[in-house]
Parts: sequence; structure tokens; C-alpha cells
Amino acid sequence: MATAVAPSASRDDFHVLIVGAGSASCRPRERATANLNVGVTGLLLAQALQESDISYSIFDSEDPTALNRTREWGMSIHWSRPMLDHLLPPNLLARLSEAQVDPWFDSIKAEEYTVPFYNGKTGEHIVEVPMRNNVRVSRRKMRSLLREGVDIQFGQRLETISHTDGGVAVTFASGRTEKGNLVIGTDGPQSKVRQILLGDKAATQQVGVILYNLNVCYSNAEKALQVRSLHPMNTVALQPDRGLSVWISIQDVPDPDKPETWSFQVMPTWMDDGKEHKGGAEGLAELKEIALSLVDPWKSSLLWIPEGTEVTPNKVAYWVTVPWDNQVGTVTLAGDAAHPLPPHRGQGLNHCIADVTNLRKAILDIKGGGSQSDAISSYDAELVTRGGAEVEMSRKNSLLVHDLEKFMESPVLKMGYVRGKN
Ligand SMILES: Cc1cc2nc3c(=O)[nH]c(=O)nc-3n(C[C@H](O)[C@H](O)[C@H](O)COP(=O)(O)OP(=O)(O)OC[C@H]3O[C@@H](n4cnc5c(N)ncnc54)[C@H](O)[C@@H]3O)c2cc1C
Repeated sequence: MATAVAPSASRDDFHVLIVGAGSASCRPRERATANLNVGVTGLLLAQALQESDISYSIFDSEDPTALNRTREWGMSIHWSRPMLDHLLPPNLLARLSEAQVDPWFDSIKAEEYTVPFYNGKTGEHIVEVPMRNNVRVSRRKMRSLLREGVDIQFGQRLETISHTDGGVAVTFASGRTEKGNLVIGTDGPQSKVRQILLGDKAATQQVGVILYNLNVCYSNAEKALQVRSLHPMNTVALQPDRGLSVWISIQDVPDPDKPETWSFQVMPTWMDDGKEHKGGAEGLAELKEIALSLVDPWKSSLLWIPEGTEVTPNKVAYWVTVPWDNQVGTVTLAGDAAHPLPPHRGQGLNHCIADVTNLRKAILDIKGGGSQSDAISSYDAELVTRGGAEVEMSRKNSLLVHDLEKFMESPVLKMGYVRGKN
């Protein structure tokens, strides 16, 4: 990256370049073949900047004409919920319930909402962990909501960042170059912006946990009702003999009176045993074998997965946030680009929302005449401390939820789903 000089643009012309957005919205019938590997941090930032009358452009590497894979899951927004309420334009806030996994479940008002944990071998109830202020949104629906009024430049894969004329420029693989005053990398766990800023120090590490994140429709009312029988939203089983954890949650309720239309997020994860885990039919056969070690409803949630359901193994990765040279306040990170972490403590999106809240404040300070270098450096300093602490905590949590004896020591049990202290 070329050397940056102190930004000198007029504050009225201040223009933000957001790298990482979201792809074209997909109708439900297209879901089975739609590549939804796209993010909400960039879109939320775009909405927040738009609401504050701050000029921006937003780019994404996705090519919406080449969609080929489902990436859908639920995300619980809890401690960051008040921040989200302040970020969303009023018209979108009023429609937030549309993005819920089950728009008919009033989790928005459910102050006593808890996540129940069970022993997956015996069925014994272990504990209810509170999740205050929770609204559980579908990634697909949330992205769709946040895309409204946002003009995403698709097919733009970032390659380089350079400094020119007192500003900063991004160049894409397409050959296109765009200039602005601040680049924000919201380009996810394998962030190119992070790699440009930190080189080899940006590489993610393996947690040592295998994860299958399945989107399952049983197409059968009786089966759907049984899988949902313990809790209307989510349940977790810990299987002590196999170092296994199975999360089940409702993912989509097209019609509350037709359980055969419901779909579920079923997420078995276990300590990496060094074996090769496969996707497709072989992966499904392995999950059905694992199911035999569980009691219901987790057992049936796996045994009943229809053939043809997308089954892909993942190795859970993380990166502990460290400081970077922000090039006199012209390049920074937000969202998973800044703190990719394991999902078991349900923190990722909550921190994305906190990042966007702080970033908007920093940009408003700059627009108000403050030093860009100081505003972005102070945003970065808070982010590095908060993000780094959460990644460490979520990594530790991810290991302990696979060991029933040590589960009582896990952050999710000791602290719940609250924001960690940094
Ligand atoms: C199974 C699972 C369950 C989860 N549950 C929860 C939960 O309950 N609560 C919670 O708070 N969080 C949860 N999370 C975390 C949450 O999903 C993430 O924190 C959040 O979606 C991150 O969004 P993002 O926009 O930062 O990144 P991403 O969604 O990864 O988006 C990055 C975007 O950048 C684009 N991009 C990538 N590279 C480039 C490039 N070179 N040039 C241009 N564009 C690029 C991509 O196409 C993509 O659109 C969960 C995560 C998983 C996997």
C-alpha cells in the first residue's frame, strides 16, 4: 500500500468506500441454489451513513448472476439490540419483525427469553441461560431488509488499496478504481482489507472444532412439531461421550399453521478428531450415525434430515484482533473482518452492530471538523480491545461447550449472552 498523507479533503465532500456488502435478494424458491455468502455489516453501515447524510459507495465481490450455494442461518441479536434500534432508519426499524426467523414469535417482547441446555445422552435438563432483549433474525431476511435503498456495486473483488491526492483509492479485480476519503473493510472472516493491512498476521487459526450448519425442512407437520417440542425458538444438547454439541432452532415459518412448511437450523459441532469429514451423502450418513448417540428431539432432528439437504463440513476458525496501521485514519475494519469468531456464544453480529455504532460516531466527528486520524485511531483502539477480548472468550467457550464436565466454567454459562468485559 502506498504511503498515506494526512487527509485534506473538504469535509463536505467526505466519501466513504465500504468493501463488503450483500448479494441480490433471493426469493424462497431460489434458496436451494442461492449463494448467500454475503454480509450484513456493510449493509447496516450503509443504512446508518445514509440516515446521517454521509456520502458512501458500497462494493461486493459477489456476482448475483452466479449464485450456487445456500448460506443461511439465524442470528440472535441481544446486548446490541438498543444500538440496532438507534442505527436503523425508522421505516426499517418498524419492519424489523419481518426479518425474524419466526415473525409470529414475539421474542422482541420476551424479556424472560432463555436458551435451554440439556444432556444429549440422558435428556436431563442442565440449565436455562438468559438471553435478554433477544430478537433472532434470519441472515437472508435481515440482508434483504437492509438492502432497501442501498445501491450495491456487485462483481467488485478488492485487490489493492492505494493513496493518492490526499485521499484513498480501492482497485478491484475488474480493473475499476474508486477514490474516497475512508476505506472500511466489512469483507468478512477472510478479509482482503485485513490482509492488505497486516499481511501474514491477518491469517485465521483453527479452533479445533468441526461444524455442520444445516438448513433443514422436514416437509412433515408431525416431525416439525416434534423437533420444535421443547422450546419455540432454540435448544442445545451436549453429548458427553462424543464431545458433541447440537443446536436446534427454528429458521423459517412461512405459515404458523402449517408446520410442514417450517425449516430449522440444525448445527452439530464436535471436537476435531483429525478424521476427514465429508459433505453430501457421506456427510449425511455420518450425521445419522452420530444421531444414535442422542436422545430426542436432537436424535430425530438429525435422523430425519431428507436426502438432498445441503451438508457441508466446516472447520471453525478465528482471528484475535490486533492493532494495524490505519494509514493516517484512511483504512479500517468492521464486523467479522475485524473479529472472526466461533458462533457458540452468539456474539458476532452483536459486535458488528457495536462497530457500526462507533464508526458512524467517528465519521460524524470527522464531518464536524475533527481530525480524521484521531477519530479513526480512537475507533480502532476500542475495537481492538473489545474485539480481541471477545474472540478469545468465544474461542474458549467453543472448546468448553464440547466438554460437559467443564461446561459449567464456560463463558456462556458463567456470563450468559451478555457483552464481555474488555
Ligand atoms: C452458524 C453461525 C451462527 C451464528 N449465530 C450468531 C448469533 O446467534 N448471534 C450473533 O450475533 N452472531 C452470530 N453469528 C455471526 C454472524 O453471522 C456474523 O458475525 C455476521 O454475519 C458477519 O457479517 P459480516 O457482514 O461482517 O461478514 P460476512 O457476512 O462474511 O460478509 C462479508 C461480505 O464481504 C464480501 N467480500 C469478501 N471478500 C471481498 C473482497 N475481496 N472484495 C469485495 N467484497 C468481498 C462477501 O461477498 C460478503 O458479502 C453466527 C455465525 C455463524 C456462522
